[in-house]
Amino acid sequence: MYGLEDIKPKTGTMLKSVCYKRVSTPNQALTGHSLEVQDQLFQNFVSQNNITILKVFEDSGRSARDLDRPDMEELLDYCDDNAATVDLVLVQDSSRLARNVADHLTVKAFLKKRNIKLIPLDGSYYGDTDEGDFLDVIVAAVNQLESRRTGKKTKRIMKALAEKGMKPGKSPLGFCNSFQKDKPIYPDPERKHFIYKAYEMWISGNHTVYSITNILYEQGLRNTSGGKVNKNTMTNILKNILYCGGLSYDGVIYEKAAHEPIVPVDWYKKSLLMFEKRNKGANRTRKYTTLLAGYAHCLKCGSLMAAEYHPKGNYFRCKTCEKTYVSLEKADKRVSAFFHGTVFTEKALNNLRNVLLEVKQEQGTSVPEQLKTLRQRRDILDKKMKVLEDKMFGGDELVESERIKARYQPLKEELKQVDAQIIEMDKPSTNLKDSEIEKVIQGMKNIGELYDAMTKVQQKQFLRFFISKAFLEKERTITSFEFVPEFEALVSRNLVRIRSNWLRR
Ligand SMILES: [Zn+2]
Repeated sequence: MYGLEDIKPKTGTMLKSVCYKRVSTPNQALTGHSLEVQDQLFQNFVSQNNITILKVFEDSGRSARDLDRPDMEELLDYCDDNAATVDLVLVQDSSRLARNVADHLTVKAFLKKRNIKLIPLDGSYYGDTDEGDFLDVIVAAVNQLESRRTGKKTKRIMKALAEKGMKPGKSPLGFCNSFQKDKPIYPDPERKHFIYKAYEMWISGNHTVYSITNILYEQGLRNTSGGKVNKNTMTNILKNILYCGGLSYDGVIYEKAAHEPIVPVDWYKKSLLMFEKRNKGANRTRKYTTLLAGYAHCLKCGSLMAAEYHPKGNYFRCKTCEKTYVSLEKADKRVSAFFHGTVFTEKALNNLRNVLLEVKQEQGTSVPEQLKTLRQRRDILDKKMKVLEDKMFGGDELVESERIKARYQPLKEELKQVDAQIIEMDKPSTNLKDSEIEKVIQGMKNIGELYDAMTKVQQKQFLRFFISKAFLEKERTITSFEFVPEFEALVSRNLVRIRSNWLRR
């Protein structure tokens, strides 16, 4: 009747079950009658069918409101954790388990995914074939239940860990995750002495965070992807109580955590004081318009380059091949040289006026659209990463952790890129107005000087009517531009001449 004879135990020779019992009213629980009946039912069933009971979950005498997160949740957690062992879930009848059919099927599908059979003992067992189609319809519901559950469960586990003095989640640089339940993080043998040095240098007052990252890089400190530890990460290291043996989670600070500290507590306190001291008076915010941000590409590998701002000079750097560094200032000068070498014919100026008007119209619509798309992409990435993070740090599926990490890394990279694009596009609009376009046309006759007379922000705005990409190289700074189609059309029809002192590809 239950098809039990077709099931092979996952482990050992006997089928293993968990039981769930529940009483509908507190009264029934008080008399104990109903629960006893259910116990008896389970006992009879397992002895007749040669089944072991691993655990019994019981929601007894609770108010209806409490039943929102009763033992049911724990039962699902248990089945999730022990999916490799549990063969069956036994309930007196389906109504014990869930309040409606949809919930019932959802729970059943959740169990089915873990290859666990749900057996209601009242005979209302319907085989796996009939509701196959129906299961499809409620896959969405299952996913919702699962994600909600995973999130809650992870949070619960993490909070419990923090209370025990265990750092929940991924360990920061300098520590390693033990990847074992109830084991704290431990100092990374390869990196802990770098952390020690970083604190030592910082509290001495003789170094900036930036210089510390450089010195330690030279001495061999690498981040988890093998690169240089950046300034933000270093700042976080120097401000994190974790390194002196404390723990901060969810707004609560635990001064004495279970892991081994890397630096003494008074070093940590001195480090915080040093940040306060340095921040006073040093509150200059960088105001620098990066002309070629979003345009600069590495000639060697084609990647979009990132601008970096250092006390000694500002550079575009290729983070992909690591081979190309170009000074921002030099690159900007090359752009100016390009415009000085560009001559428009009368016919071209008329054409250009039309092009500018068209592009202006397009600006109004395309940016918000692109932003919307980028934001949607970011949300998707965020969700995917959360799911993987839950898997990595929820304490489950240890075996799979390497595979999960491999899936996680590319998402992280993409998120970084998407974020950068959003920041770039999200800046206040500086779209050209009609009157400004006329001025531009007049100035076109001497476009180089016109360009030089503009502010950086205007130059940047101007640039996008001409250029879609700039290719950078260490020796020659900018080797070539990729033009926007409208401008390319003018150039190819000889309406614009570009002097040979500015090499094109
Ligand atoms: Zn490159």
